[in-house]
Amino acid sequence: MNNENGKGIIIIVSGPSASGKGTVVSRALAKADDARVDVQLSISMTTRGIGKGEVDGETYYYVSKEDFEKNIADNNLVEYNSYAGEYYGTPKDKLEGWLNSGSSVILEIDVNGAKQVLSQYPEAVTVYILPPSFQELEYRLRNRGRDSEEKIRYRLAKGRDEIPEAHWYDYILVNEIIEESADDLLCIIRAEKNSRRHIEYKIDEVLATYGEDRKEEQND
Ligand code: 5GP
Repeated sequence: MNNENGKGIIIIVSGPSASGKGTVVSRALAKADDARVDVQLSISMTTRGIGKGEVDGETYYYVSKEDFEKNIADNNLVEYNSYAGEYYGTPKDKLEGWLNSGSSVILEIDVNGAKQVLSQYPEAVTVYILPPSFQELEYRLRNRGRDSEEKIRYRLAKGRDEIPEAHWYDYILVNEIIEESADDLLCIIRAEKNSRRHIEYKIDEVLATYGEDRKEEQND
């Protein structure tokens, strides 16, 4: 479990390619301090090529197939999946450190990765980012100009196959206005930190402060 004794919580954010989840997450991170939410972003590892405007070590860690497979063999990944012929995975090293220090951690991963994380961290919170429509999704995919026609079609079909999985996510954000979705994501994290499943340990901690002297008074 990742919620014991004030540990941070894992927030899994999934959604089809170009649903805007990356932008929602980065806006939420930019606003996190003001919203008094202590949250970090897990940077995934991938074998796909670096895209326009992306930064190695910020958007992803870009590695070769050989390096990725070595990380699998060395058990350095919490989960991994292949998508459009490329590997994507969540490095283990920083995640536990952040959780132990009380920071919550956002994992921006696909549905398959989400299932793998939930099997190890059943208390993780899941958030699905839905695009307003497929027309909008297609427009965004074309507009970012990163993919070939074939890849755009693949990503749209993948979205249609994946969206029904949103039924089992804890929260669904329809991403029409980025700033609103980012605010909602921060609200979810704040609320979840106070949800019973994440904070129940406090009940016993508070009861333990009742103190011997009071117990004696009660017995008089
Ligand atoms: P993109 O190429 O558009 O950046 O990402 C393609 C897909 O891979 C998206 O659905 C994205 O959420 C997913 N993805 C990114 N990082 C990871 C990861 O670490 N693990 C898994 N399982 N999926 C990831």
